Amino acid sequence: MAENDQLLLLKIGEKDCPEPFYPNSGGDWEGEEFRFPSIQRMPDATTRVLPQGTTVFVWTHHNRRKNETPGQGLTAIGHLSDDLDTKGAEGSVRLIDVQTLSPAISLKTLKSFKGTNAVIHKARNYTLRHALVVDGDDAKAFRDLVETTHPPRAEATADYERLRERANRLRGRIGGTPPSGNATPPRSTGAASGFVRSPEVVAYVQDRANGVCELCGDTAPFLDKDGFPFLEVHHVRFLAHGGPDVIQNAAALCPNCHRACHHSADPDLLRRRLISQVGELEDFPAREIACEHES
Ligand SMILES: [Zn+2]
Repeated sequence: MAENDQLLLLKIGEKDCPEPFYPNSGGDWEGEEFRFPSIQRMPDATTRVLPQGTTVFVWTHHNRRKNETPGQGLTAIGHLSDDLDTKGAEGSVRLIDVQTLSPAISLKTLKSFKGTNAVIHKARNYTLRHALVVDGDDAKAFRDLVETTHPPRAEATADYERLRERANRLRGRIGGTPPSGNATPPRSTGAASGFVRSPEVVAYVQDRANGVCELCGDTAPFLDKDGFPFLEVHHVRFLAHGGPDVIQNAAALCPNCHRACHHSADPDLLRRRLISQVGELEDFPAREIACEHES
């Protein structure tokens, strides 16, 4: 954070604020359009025009709802859908591609970020819900700071499409804080069959592979619908054989290699090759796991 005059503090009127502007504590804005229906610039905020597409960091204060903890706030990052002229006293703006950064972050933590103290101090005097809005490179710096102390997380799922979607949203965001995964991933009891897997593990391993198959070394054969190189995250010791859902047991493979690891004449040869090639992998023993029909 360079200087305070890089910060904008926008007060958000309480009236006419529809959901999802008031998500519950721990709420999730992923993929939401985030509307600020009534914006008032704080008296001493910087005045300028932020062009469409500007990356914006938002922190909103919890203080109104029973299930919210005073002093905590939600953080998110998104992009402006239209130009935002901050000179006007009133206005509205829409954020798109919103990513929730953490369930909640305290004012104290936010204030510990260099350069925010003076602005946050002013914010405390407002009784209405408000948002701290930071744009551009400072927004990215803010995101990094938040994620250093509050690594992004996503709920585990047995649904493969959801797993990929959630993992893609975490791509490039958790490399510095390896996820712990799950040593004993449960089988799904819901509609989707299979194991409940961590999107964080998938995202971390995809980032590690960086678009190159960790077995054959070829570039991913195509891009997925989010524009990421398509690789599949494979458990080197199969989950069905008691392997853990952790980054030390997961490799990103091209579809051919993934098939080979399951259906070739000697899958164990490929398993050992992967372990020797990828430094982070460990050789987990096979073990009995409970049958899914037992409980
Ligand atoms: Zn391959």
